[in-house]
Amino acid sequence: MKDFNAANEIQDLQYFGEFGGVNPSISDSSTYTFLSAKTMFDTFEGNADGCYLYSRHSSPMNLYLAQALAKLENTAAANVTASGMGAIATVLLQLCKSGDHIISSRTIYGGTYAFMKNFLPPFHIETSFVDIGNFEVIEAAIRPTTKVIYCESVSNPLLEVADLRRLSAICKKYKLKLVVDNTFSPLSVSPGLLGADVVIHSLTKFINGSSDTVGGVYCGTQEFINDTKNVNSGACMLLGPTMDSLRSASILKNLRTLHIRMKQHSYNAQYLAERFEKDGLKVSYPGLLSHKNHELMKSMMHAEYGFGGILTLDAVTTDQANALMELMQKENLGYLAVSLGFYKTLFSCSGSSTSSEIPEEDRVRMGISDGLIRFSIGLDHDIERTYQRMKACMVKTAVLT
Ligand code: PLP
Repeated sequence: MKDFNAANEIQDLQYFGEFGGVNPSISDSSTYTFLSAKTMFDTFEGNADGCYLYSRHSSPMNLYLAQALAKLENTAAANVTASGMGAIATVLLQLCKSGDHIISSRTIYGGTYAFMKNFLPPFHIETSFVDIGNFEVIEAAIRPTTKVIYCESVSNPLLEVADLRRLSAICKKYKLKLVVDNTFSPLSVSPGLLGADVVIHSLTKFINGSSDTVGGVYCGTQEFINDTKNVNSGACMLLGPTMDSLRSASILKNLRTLHIRMKQHSYNAQYLAERFEKDGLKVSYPGLLSHKNHELMKSMMHAEYGFGGILTLDAVTTDQANALMELMQKENLGYLAVSLGFYKTLFSCSGSSTSSEIPEEDRVRMGISDGLIRFSIGLDHDIERTYQRMKACMVKTAVLT
């Protein structure tokens, strides 16, 4: 995809710290002084470029990180939040008011699902959950009050890939906003180049990459970002899920190695997925020819970053899944933990953890089986050795017979 590189070349970022440091200086003030009361007033009104007022609105360090993430996602602007859910809630509450309607993929992160299914309806914002690959159903679900189509580029935990070009065309036709959570596929997929209006990340995952913080971002037009920060009506300004500026500084430093980490996560996940599949295990990974969205993902991704670091394996029963995960942890092959994007492999049983907010009957309908293990594959140097040792655990727990 040429646009991606072209856009990156044009806008290369360069920062120096206050004393010539190679990192931008960390500013950790919550409030800012003014030489004149008039400038303070103008800043409050949003008419004094480059001035800061109060850090719930803007801070220099948050802007550095936001700019870098906007560049990552090829959007004009971005805003960083204290968590991924902080970003999701802000975006949806900015775009949808009482009486509005959302169409969402039914296979999404459990917290996002719960937010739309349980939290929003008392505010009279309804959501229709659909199969995001069924465009007829999507068009039929559109109402006069529909404002947003929401999906994950690669879904949690089923790894369904959304056809962002098709969804964007539907959004343009009906004047809706396409909001895409790209947490599973940073760098691999650029939703902004495929027609998304707003791109969201949980920074907690691959982007920060060290499992030492929660964080989030939403990327979009300058106008949309300004709207969310408006002192009178901005969802981020008024709900207040602002990121702490010290955290912005640490995430910005980790972001610099994302391209190298993503290649290694993808390489390792592809390797294991191919081996597990050959062994006859029920494995799902978008990089496998057998994955139902393999060709679609290929048509949307930047090939050099691969198909991402997440794969799932169906161990059939919860008991077998638990036995396997406990043994793999004992053998130091990874941690039995939720979340993803760590240097070490993380595994959890989705049905009883990150998708447990989704009622059992819906989980069954979606295909989240009781024994489904989600693996976030780590940065292991010798992946063949990891494979051999994981395989031994699978044989020992009768997941592989
Ligand atoms: N989006 C996806 C795809 C996720 O997997 C998660 C968390 O697991 C979130 C959003 C929420 O992010 P956070 O935990 O940073 O609030």
